[in-house]
Amino acid sequence: MPLIVQKFGGTSVADTEKILAAARKAIRAQQQGNHVVMVVSAMGKNTDLLVDLAAEISERPAAREMDMLLSTGEQVSVALMAMAIHSLGHQAVSLTGAQIGIKTDSTHTKARIKSISTERMQRLLDEGNIVIAAGFQGIDEDFNITTLGRGGSDTTAVALAAVLDADACEIYTDVDGVYTTDPRKLPEARRVTQISYDEMLELASLGAGVMHSRSIEFAKKYGVPIHVRSSMTDIPGTVIAQSPETRERPVSGAAVTRDEARVSVLGVPDVPGTSFEIFSRIADRKVTVDMIVQNVGAEGRADVSFTVPKEELDETLEAVNAALEVVGAGTVTHSDDVSKVSVVGLGMAQQSGVAEKMFRAVSEAGINIEMITTSEIKISVLVSREHSQDALRAVHDAFNLHQDPATIEEVQETTRQAADVADVVARLRGIDMEELFLNDIQLDQTQARVTIHGAPDTPGGASTVFQEVAAAGIFVDMIVQSYNADEQRANLGFTVPRDQHDATLDVATRLAETFACEGTSSSPNVAKLSVSGVGLRSHTSVAIRMFRALSEAGINVEVISTSEVRVNAVVDGEQGEQALHCLQAAFADVLR
Ligand code: ADP
Ligand code: ASP
Ligand code: MG
Repeated sequence: MPLIVQKFGGTSVADTEKILAAARKAIRAQQQGNHVVMVVSAMGKNTDLLVDLAAEISERPAAREMDMLLSTGEQVSVALMAMAIHSLGHQAVSLTGAQIGIKTDSTHTKARIKSISTERMQRLLDEGNIVIAAGFQGIDEDFNITTLGRGGSDTTAVALAAVLDADACEIYTDVDGVYTTDPRKLPEARRVTQISYDEMLELASLGAGVMHSRSIEFAKKYGVPIHVRSSMTDIPGTVIAQSPETRERPVSGAAVTRDEARVSVLGVPDVPGTSFEIFSRIADRKVTVDMIVQNVGAEGRADVSFTVPKEELDETLEAVNAALEVVGAGTVTHSDDVSKVSVVGLGMAQQSGVAEKMFRAVSEAGINIEMITTSEIKISVLVSREHSQDALRAVHDAFNLHQDPATIEEVQETTRQAADVADVVARLRGIDMEELFLNDIQLDQTQARVTIHGAPDTPGGASTVFQEVAAAGIFVDMIVQSYNADEQRANLGFTVPRDQHDATLDVATRLAETFACEGTSSSPNVAKLSVSGVGLRSHTSVAIRMFRALSEAGINVEVISTSEVRVNAVVDGEQGEQALHCLQAAFADVLR
């Protein structure tokens, strides 16, 4: 019998009437001949209320007790949901994460799922029950209750769909699908009919709160098609699957991470191992680092800038200061009033000028860009928080995201391919479900790097550079910009095809003179190493392992950029092969 997982978010179970409405949806699906597993969130804003209660008692409540507290929200909802189904004359059994056997690691408040037992759920389904699973929670080896991180019920739902080999995973929420950007932030946002896993993975981790990003990691890894739709209307919603909505456009969506903090470490020795020292200490504290930008500087010194969630700034600074004591040099600056604005699209890999268009849109809105990172399918810029909304609107407009695309790809993969599922399950057997998953390491020896140092920090700098570079017919690949707040100057580095190195350096040198920058530098031969997989940003360890492996081999990383599906590092061209071998060795245990 087909099996459907239906997940209901907080707003969709906010009161008893809504609980009854959700119960009816599940019953209807069962009557249509499906086994039904419901995954339910805490009612309304209950989790927030619990967080506030804890904050009234303690500034830093113990994470274990936080999980004990937060998991109660879902326990209330599953019990009421079971009663609702009973009252409508049908069979249902509610289960907590522990009762299902959702085993996680012990990282309280952001635990990762290791395994899920299916026997009990399967037996209850076979007996004619609707199974109601508490979202967001599990237990660790010592039977401590854990939670998966805010918004984690989505991850429970998709993980259950994966292990139960469900035919569909329906996410019922308070919007009628995935939009080009948060419709509450930008009313002109448009619902998309479908979106690819990779795009959704990026958008979710860059601030599109409609889906918990780790749920999309599961969906991609196990090939689970997701259908996001409204619990209030019958509008068709959005399918998240393999293919994008359209390939005619470079950009499919935009997102803002509002509460970011920037940390810059200036004047550290430009030798292998420095970055590793810094980032491994941050990773030890389970802080997720993003927008890592490293730039070669003057006199054997380098600057490293990166962003972390604002609420993790203090913890990060402690870690960085400890690292600098070991490194023996460097100063730290930081700012906690920045936001990250990003665009995402599978189509941008095939088109040039996308980054330039984004920078222009932001600069024409009079907004300064502090940092930039790009990867194959996303571009992120860091702006001051007060301008983030305007930057989002400018970018959404520039890519015409409010308009329907002319051609929409057909929805494929509405059901899972049995053969694929078997293949994936076989490959992942015996591995923790959220374990790091890498599928490729590549070496690209076709590129050169050009960097403009000490560019004055005014709106339009990056836009001017890439306009000129594009006008010279040069195809830019990676772009990174770091920022020195003390001097209000930025370093802008980018890679181009080797045969365009000289032409690019000419353009850069001319611009550096015109705009009174400090100068330029370049490497005519660089090697770009790319590690690809799933959920690489949430697994901070990938960038760290790369830093460690390369530094142990005495290889210096010139530029690095990270995304959910890839981490790219640029090193000296002579060391490309050596770097590839050392990464292959370093990741041998997680390459699948
Ligand atoms: P639930 O409680 O059902 O899990 P969430 O509040 O977690 O619901 O997610 C739904 C919300 O996500 C919407 O109300 C919307 O404001 C927000 N959101 C952010 N980005 C997007 C997007 N790109 N498309 C749709 N909704 C989005
Ligand atoms: N109730 C949890 C939260 O509010 C989990 C969820 O709703 O997904 O974060
Ligand atoms: Mg949610």
